[in-house]
Amino acid sequence: MDVLAYMAEHGHEQLVVCSEPSVGLKAFIAIHDTSLGPAVGGTRIWPFETEEEAIMDVLRLSEAMTYKSAAADLPMGGGKALIMADPRTDKTEALLRAYGRHVDTLNGRYVTTTDVGSTGRDLEYISLETEHVAGLPVSQGGSGDTSLMTGLGVYMGMKACAKAAWGTDSLSGRTVALQGFGKVAYRTAEHLVEEGANLVATDVYEEAREKARLMGARVVEPEAIYDVECDIFSPCALGGVLSSRTIPRLTCSIIAGGANNQLLTDHDGMELHRKGVLYAPDYIINSGGVINIACELGAPYNEDRAREMTERVYGTMERVLDISSREGIPTSQAADRMARERVDSVSNLRRIYRGP
Ligand code: NAD
Repeated sequence: MDVLAYMAEHGHEQLVVCSEPSVGLKAFIAIHDTSLGPAVGGTRIWPFETEEEAIMDVLRLSEAMTYKSAAADLPMGGGKALIMADPRTDKTEALLRAYGRHVDTLNGRYVTTTDVGSTGRDLEYISLETEHVAGLPVSQGGSGDTSLMTGLGVYMGMKACAKAAWGTDSLSGRTVALQGFGKVAYRTAEHLVEEGANLVATDVYEEAREKARLMGARVVEPEAIYDVECDIFSPCALGGVLSSRTIPRLTCSIIAGGANNQLLTDHDGMELHRKGVLYAPDYIINSGGVINIACELGAPYNEDRAREMTERVYGTMERVLDISSREGIPTSQAADRMARERVDSVSNLRRIYRGP
C-alpha cells in the first residue's frame, strides 16, 4: 500500500503515528482537511490485525468526517483516530492518557470524541492530558450521549425524503423497517411512534429486540429485515449493508438510516438511483451527533441550540435531493459534490493575507 499516494489522491493533510511501547499504545491520527476548522472525529479502538488495515480505515473515516461536517454547515474539518487495541481487554488509564498526550501535541488541529470501542469514561482519561476533547459525559461538563440528536436528525431526514417521494412529509401509517435497535434506532423510533408510523425491527441481541417490542415494533430475524414489506428501510447497525446481495431484495421506496458507510461500493449508490429508490446519504442524515459536538465546542453547550441545528438536516437533505434530481446523479454523488464545493470555496479564502 502506498499511503502517501492515497493521501495525495484523497486530499489528506496529515497522518500521525503514535507509539508508547511501555503501555502498548499503537495509534494513528488522520487529519483529512482543516479548511473549515479543526479536524473533529472520534477515536476508534479496534484490534486490527495489520497496520495497513488500520491506516486505511482511519484515512477513509477522516475523509468522511470532512464531508459530514461540511454538509452540515459546521465550522469543522475532518479527522479520525484509531488505537490498535481490543476495547474489551486492552484499555487502561495509562494507554488512554498516553494517547491523550499525543492528541495534545497537535495543539487543537485535531479534536477527539467517542467512536466504536471508546466511551465517555475513556474520554475522561484522555481529557486529563488534553483539552481537545468533546462529547464528555454531562457530569464532566460535556454534552453526553450524541444518539439523542442523531436520532432526531435521522427522523428529520426521513421526513424530507418522504416529502420528495410522496409529496407529504407525514410518516403516519408508513411502515419503517429498522435494522439494528441500538441507541440511534431507539431515538429515531421514539419520533416515529409519536407520529403514528408502524415499526418492524431486528437486532442480533435479544435485549435490543425486547426494547423494540416494548415500543410496539414487530420483530423479525436479522436476515429477514431485507425482505420485509415496508415504505422506508432504515439501516441503523453496521456499514456496507447496501450491496448487490441486498438491494434486489428491498421493497422500500426510501432508504434512510443512521449507520455510517451504508453503501458497500459507489456502484451500489448508482444501482439504487437506477432502481428509483431514494437513498438518504448516510453522512447527511446521521449528522446530528457531530452537530451536537459542534455545539459543545467554543461555547457552553445548549441543548435547545443543538436541537434547532439538528432539525436543519431536513433542509440539507432537500438540497441534496434537489441537486440529485436536477443533475440526474445518485444522491450519494450529490452529497459529495455539495460538501466538496463548500470545502473548496472556503479553502480559497486562505490566500487573503490577514496581516500579522
Ligand atoms: P449501538 O451499538 O447502540 O447499536 C447498534 C445495534 O445494531 C446494536 O444493538 C447491535 O446489536 C445491532 N446489530 C449489529 N449488527 C447487526 C446485524 N447484522 N443485524 C441487526 N442488528 C445488528 O450503536 P449506535 O450508536 O446506535 O450506532 C448505530 C450506527 O449509527 C453505527 O453505524 C454508528 O456508526 C452510526 N452512528 C451513530 C451515531 C451516534 O450518535 N451514536 C452518530 C452517527 C452515526
